[in-house]
Amino acid sequence: NFSMSGDAAVQNTTEDAASSKLSAVRMGYFRDDYLEHFVRRVTRRSPLINRGYYARVAGIRKAIDGFLSCIPQGTTAQIVNLGSGMDTTFFYVNDKPQSVVCFECDFPEVIQRKAHTILRKEPCWKAMARNREDIVQVPGGALRSEPLRMVAADMRQVDEFERQLVQAGFQDDLPTLWLAECVLVYMQPLHSDAIIRWAANAVSKAPSAFVVYEQILPHDAFGRTMVRNLQARGCPLLGIHEYPTLDSQRQRYVSLGFTRCEAADMNDVYDLHLDGAEIARIQRLEIFDELEEWRLIQGHYFIGVALKGSHDEQHRGSLS
Ligand code: SAM
Repeated sequence: NFSMSGDAAVQNTTEDAASSKLSAVRMGYFRDDYLEHFVRRVTRRSPLINRGYYARVAGIRKAIDGFLSCIPQGTTAQIVNLGSGMDTTFFYVNDKPQSVVCFECDFPEVIQRKAHTILRKEPCWKAMARNREDIVQVPGGALRSEPLRMVAADMRQVDEFERQLVQAGFQDDLPTLWLAECVLVYMQPLHSDAIIRWAANAVSKAPSAFVVYEQILPHDAFGRTMVRNLQARGCPLLGIHEYPTLDSQRQRYVSLGFTRCEAADMNDVYDLHLDGAEIARIQRLEIFDELEEWRLIQGHYFIGVALKGSHDEQHRGSLS
């Protein structure tokens, strides 16, 4: 849509992600009891899309679970969801027995829309607080409660973003997971690098991890089409040429302050890191005759896990 400003087009990508995830949920690929509240239009996607979103969600959940499993009992963990959109990670971790505080960061327009939905849907606000009155609405539209703190900011303005995150209760001494799912690649590398560098240094007194999922390999035929299609929708992959490969992505996180970084493309995530019994189950859900095309596409996405701090030694890579 050429009439949309770049920021508005990028903000709308979350609708696409949420409705594709919901399509996979409806077909039984994975469970998510909250997502339906955040999706305006329910559309059924192809088996190829459903399986791709399954791998994405299962891979990220595995990385989150791996991180949380290393947190000592009684310690609160922080998850900072960068460009959280309509994503339901907060509800996923909130249903666990562990103590986790989630920060959801996105543009004010997106945060306001999500906040509006949460306040209207009882299962959603009940996850935030026992009484709806206990949820604080801050100017700008963000909601805050003990387990969920929303931050409405343009993350490219790192100083202002940091100020708001700290105001929302972010601490530099708690084990922290940074999550950037299909977000950084939509920014100029100048901006996304600044965010990663800042994140690597924001937690000085506890271990931290950065989990990223996004596109790579812009140069082959499929990569060029992928870049062109998103460009035509007003969402150019501004970061993909600076960090086009798994290796350049690994180096990126280390050079910006993390101790080490593991990365695998989504074919390897699917074949080597996801639960075999689950894979067998989801492969029976739909007739699937697009295997070659699916493998080709999956090679253009990756999950990276960068680590810093003492966590590093215990946590032998969240993907392993
Ligand atoms: N992470 C969610 C997921 O995977 O379901 C949403 C992904 S969506 C493709 C990208 C999100 O990043 C959008 O919600 C968009 O508004 C947000 N985003 C992109 N650039 C941003 C910026 N500079 N500041 C805040 N949010 C941003």
